[in-house]
Amino acid sequence: MAAVGAAVDLSVAGGMAVVSPVSGEAVATLRTHTPAEVDAAIDVAAEAFRAWRMVPPPRRGELVRLFAEELRAAKEDLGRMVSIEAGKSPSEGLGEVQEMIDICDFAVGLSRQLYGLTIASERPGHRMMETWHPLGVVGLITAFNFPCAPWCWNAALALVCGDPVVWKPSEKTPLTALACQAVLDRAIARFGSDAPAGLSQVLVGGPEVGEALVDSPKVALISATGSTRMGRIVGPRVAARFGKCILELGGNNAGIVCPSADLDMALRAIAFGAMGTAGQRCTTMRRLFVHASVYDTVVPALKKAYASVTVGNPLETDALVGPLIDGRAYESMGEALEEARSLGGTVHGGARAEVGGASAYYVHPALVEMPAQEGPVLRETFAPILYVMKYTDLDAAIEAHNAVGGGLSSSIFTTDMREMETFLSARGSDCGIANVNIGTSGAEIGGAFGGEKETGGGRESGSDAWRAYMRRATNTINYSSALPLAQGVVFDIG
Ligand code: NAD
Repeated sequence: MAAVGAAVDLSVAGGMAVVSPVSGEAVATLRTHTPAEVDAAIDVAAEAFRAWRMVPPPRRGELVRLFAEELRAAKEDLGRMVSIEAGKSPSEGLGEVQEMIDICDFAVGLSRQLYGLTIASERPGHRMMETWHPLGVVGLITAFNFPCAPWCWNAALALVCGDPVVWKPSEKTPLTALACQAVLDRAIARFGSDAPAGLSQVLVGGPEVGEALVDSPKVALISATGSTRMGRIVGPRVAARFGKCILELGGNNAGIVCPSADLDMALRAIAFGAMGTAGQRCTTMRRLFVHASVYDTVVPALKKAYASVTVGNPLETDALVGPLIDGRAYESMGEALEEARSLGGTVHGGARAEVGGASAYYVHPALVEMPAQEGPVLRETFAPILYVMKYTDLDAAIEAHNAVGGGLSSSIFTTDMREMETFLSARGSDCGIANVNIGTSGAEIGGAFGGEKETGGGRESGSDAWRAYMRRATNTINYSSALPLAQGVVFDIG
């Protein structure tokens, strides 16, 4: 834990400035960890692994149960920290902490369910079984837009699975990370001496700190959340040393509105999914295919919703749309809209909003009617832009839906069973998350989270995601008196 304490100094000259997107002003300056400190933190974690792997899993679950208690007590403060650092609305900040509590509850139950199979052996008098063992040090790299929940999706599972964690949060949101670690430290203090030092650590710094984790052979699993650009660097580097990797990357998510859709329901889900968190969710809805028969109903209604949505300071209001993270995000949004216009797109909204000072970047969300799926529609721009396209044939719409990278989350709005089942079938959506009559965002922790295509495969959180944090041993036990040895082999025993 020394590595954590050493990093926190709110007044370090020449340190890393932490800027709140709410005001565009620096709220703290942190010293970043040096390469030697990163190595030392990994060494401490490796030592912690030797002890923690031998603590019985239900006892490890007890630590996570205590952590959930501490999170409940700190929920308001942590949620506010998320709003300050990431610019999320109060309800979204609190929602993120609630996800942490939920995954802890899930992990506590899991600590008694790390089951292996018993397998029928083909050999007489033999029994085969699988045993799941702790894996080793887990290195976590996270993105700015979910500054705490993805850490907890990983950490809660890793801890019950017997693995220490070393966390490199986004350089844009380190304060939330330090606050989360402080809350976990409270649980560790209550837990007792069988929690080794260095069970959970935070490293402050930029990509270079992440790279040190990625390249360390002492880190058994790297779980990295962020852009596809980052994933393309991290994936091959971890593979080069035969490490394990979970990549949760960008999402160019889409929805399809069918003729039979409950339009009221669809409109609400689309508006929330496309504009919420100012379009800065990996699961934000970025593309919409609307059937020609309902296009002239859906698009005017969406235009109205876009024109009336509140854009505001998340510390003072519960406005759906808060700030973009920084000036670079604002520029990217402008560039994407300009490119869309040059391709014949009609842009509604998208201007800068007069909220906050000159260094804060608030925008009106943009709805863009596109004649075709090309240019910026094919990639993730991390801003509130929804590209709308018309379709007439569902198969063609599904093909267009799948014809981009970032296959993370998807939705169909329909009351027609055939359309629904087609979308969910093998020839339907190619995303890791495929929804019916709900939007692309708002995944629950009970399911495995993540994409299947160009998102690194992902899969954290619920379902059987825990297996990635453990290693499997197949055990064969011979309880017979006969040794089924190869003929002709002679052993001289004694
Ligand atoms: P980013 O890729 O810029 O940074 C993410 C993290 O990776 C940061 O901690 C950063 O320091 C680190 N990093 C960057 N380059 C690295 C390198 N070469 N080696 C090691 N670490 C490196 O992403 P961002 O702007 O913080 O977040 C937005 C992106 O994250 C979007 O693309 C969004 O879709 C994605 N995201 C995905 C999920 C998911 O679960 N699939 C969740 C949240 C965000």
